[in-house]
Amino acid sequence: MHEFTPAVEQTVRELARLSVARLASDVPLGGAATQERLESAAGETITAAGLGGARAIELWTEVLAPACLTVDHPRYLSFIPGAPAKLASAFDMLVGVSNVYGGSWLEGAGAAFAENQALRWIADLAGLPEGAGGTFVQGGTLGNLSALVAARETARRQRSGAPGRWAVCVSDEAHSSVTHALRVVMDADVVLVPGDERGRMTGGALRAVVDGLPPERRAGVFAVVATAGSTNLGTVDDLAGIAEVARENGWWLHVDGAYGGAGLAAGTVRHLYDGVQWADSFIVDPHKWLFGPFDSCALLYRDPALARAAHTQHAAYLEPVAACGGQNPSDHALQLTRRSRGLPFWFSLAVHGSDAYRDAVERTLATARAGAELIRRSDHLDLLVEPDLTVLTFARRGWGADDYARWSDGLLASRQAFVTPTGHRGRACTRLAVVNPATTPDDLRLVLDSMR
Ligand SMILES: *Cc1c(COP(=O)(O)O)cnc(C)c1O
Repeated sequence: MHEFTPAVEQTVRELARLSVARLASDVPLGGAATQERLESAAGETITAAGLGGARAIELWTEVLAPACLTVDHPRYLSFIPGAPAKLASAFDMLVGVSNVYGGSWLEGAGAAFAENQALRWIADLAGLPEGAGGTFVQGGTLGNLSALVAARETARRQRSGAPGRWAVCVSDEAHSSVTHALRVVMDADVVLVPGDERGRMTGGALRAVVDGLPPERRAGVFAVVATAGSTNLGTVDDLAGIAEVARENGWWLHVDGAYGGAGLAAGTVRHLYDGVQWADSFIVDPHKWLFGPFDSCALLYRDPALARAAHTQHAAYLEPVAACGGQNPSDHALQLTRRSRGLPFWFSLAVHGSDAYRDAVERTLATARAGAELIRRSDHLDLLVEPDLTVLTFARRGWGADDYARWSDGLLASRQAFVTPTGHRGRACTRLAVVNPATTPDDLRLVLDSMR
């Protein structure tokens, strides 16, 4: 297994050929599969003698890969898709083969240096101070959790006497990972703040909810989570207003830009993010709208020392890592061993330059605006929320949940598009999320016309 034998070399060459072909071609949308179908097509793949490279590759290309959806297909418009830049995906191969240890400066200084420069680009877009920093983690879920853990540790150390219950203010459009982190992982309370008519949390609504809390509950609030690009509606909260309330109360401000943070790069929407510069922590997923492969979330702190105080693990065998002097990526989140998840994004950003990123984000915004206009002008659809970014939430007049389910299944079964139903304020509806510069207004038109 560890010798580079002719058989191994042949398999490596075939994997490289397939990878290049994958990057060079338009891959079909793919489809779902049942366990039974895969069992009968693939059989038992783990055997005492091994299948050999050729057979294992054949299984992947003929059976397994076609049973995975092509997330970067231009008409994969569900959830939040991903559309990696070619060179980001390609560099990911080299990162994998190099097996860089990305957790510590001692072992991975070069990788951490590059990741930090990519983080600095994001910090500058957000207007965070010179000392800001952080790391890349697996995804927004872990980014949100790591930030909130750092926030609570900070509150614990700053406040004398723990409150009865710790609590965080969260809007009702906040991502499920935020309430999950608080309730299930951290055992903290959620103070829900209702959104405005477009689902945005405003400073005014936050103040009203907090003013109405009994003093002992209010004393437990240590943070507020604002969303910069909500997943279901793509709207950006009133960050400046929320930041003001956070400052007045001495709370940590966490801004969840897992999806929408990428819009910071686009001049046409940059004003929506005013106030993000006051964030104590901020996340954005390169694997969503910044053209990186799975899985990667940039996690930034205004004062990374607060994150290290919360997250650095201490053990005798780790002392040489601590003594090395550089900043360890792992000390900023819930992780120890880590893949250098920011490197594919860094490589593409370094090769193409930040202007190319700005242009690619603007292109998706223009496509989404064209799609919104198609919906407004149609006679069978209602745009439910005026979009801020690239998520379009809309309803087909006269349709109930069953109609959406049938239509969505049909689109996927015919390999035309992947669009799933959702709900907004009790009304069944659907949404299109555009993060792929290869998606065109005609792709959106095809989907909209299929709802006639
Ligand atoms: C997708 C998303 C998350 C979760 O990120 P993962 O990378 O899927 O863990 C969190 N917040 C928002 C706003 C998101 O869109």
